[in-house]
Amino acid sequence: MAQVAFIGLGNMGGPMAINLIHAGHSVTVFDLSEAACQQLAEAGALVAASAADAVAGADYVISMLPAGKHVASVYLGEDGLLARLGTETTVLDCSTIDAETSREVGKAAAALGIGFMDAPVSGGVAAAAAGTLAFMCGGDAATFEKARVILAGMGKNIFHAGPAGAGQVAKGCNNMLLAIHMIGTCEALEMGVRNGLDPAVLSEIMLASSGRNWSLEVYNPYPGVMEKAPASNGYKPGFMVDLMAKDLGLAMDIASQSGVDNQMGQLARDLYTRLQGAGMGQQDFSSVLTLLEQKN
Ligand code: NAD
Repeated sequence: MAQVAFIGLGNMGGPMAINLIHAGHSVTVFDLSEAACQQLAEAGALVAASAADAVAGADYVISMLPAGKHVASVYLGEDGLLARLGTETTVLDCSTIDAETSREVGKAAAALGIGFMDAPVSGGVAAAAAGTLAFMCGGDAATFEKARVILAGMGKNIFHAGPAGAGQVAKGCNNMLLAIHMIGTCEALEMGVRNGLDPAVLSEIMLASSGRNWSLEVYNPYPGVMEKAPASNGYKPGFMVDLMAKDLGLAMDIASQSGVDNQMGQLARDLYTRLQGAGMGQQDFSSVLTLLEQKN
């Protein structure tokens, strides 16, 4: 059993922290939202008055925050958490942020002898609640071994992608590919339907053929094909368009910083930005199909 400080108790962080309590760890939490803290108090966490108070005596500090600027402000600088931690503490930032900020925090932690990993997740709110997230970790091997024990309480697949920042790069690669095969799947299904095919029959054919992919297999974007998929439930998320657009923006930054000519990724980002502009940011990302349906 470890002493864990958990910072950021939103849609993802809340259920992740609850799973750590269920795994037997002693969890102290902090969030700017009192309501979020209250929920965790009811689940058995200790609520601290500040992030700085939460990390006192912690073996692990875990954060699940919206963006790089939040992570930088929580950890860096004279008032940041790194300045308060000893070398016995391991820091795991599970937020999805820009790889540059992860590297910067990793560098600052290393200079103080503190183990740090970026450990963004794949899997949405349902996977966070079920404890089945996939973690993509960036940091050194010793920190990864320490992290694995704790991450196992929140997820089922835990990967070491490379040094600090590598977790964010892995997540950017994965989500760019996810967007591309979701859009491709929507285009194929729409083309089939407009030519008189039944989307369920076409899905079955492609699943048994070389077009098989995750979007088709477990997340069919055509309404009525897969009972439990967001498409059959009014595109209720699931994984929101806003979050996909955010992740594609981060992926574009990684691509441009490393000189990759990722034309499909850019097209995918443009499509998801259009969906946001059409007021569909809160819908599931498979609703990209509705853009194709609107075009006659
Ligand atoms: P959220 O907005 O629901 O939660 C973020 C929480 O952080 C909020 O409760 C907010 O009050 C808190 N917060 C912000 N600044 C803080 C600070 N300085 N100190 C303490 N608390 C602070 O977001 P979420 O959906 O839980 O996502 C969190 C991260 O997980 C994001 O980086 C997101 O991209 C990533 N993610 C989300 C999903 C998803 O399906 N929601 C899936 C995978 C990854």
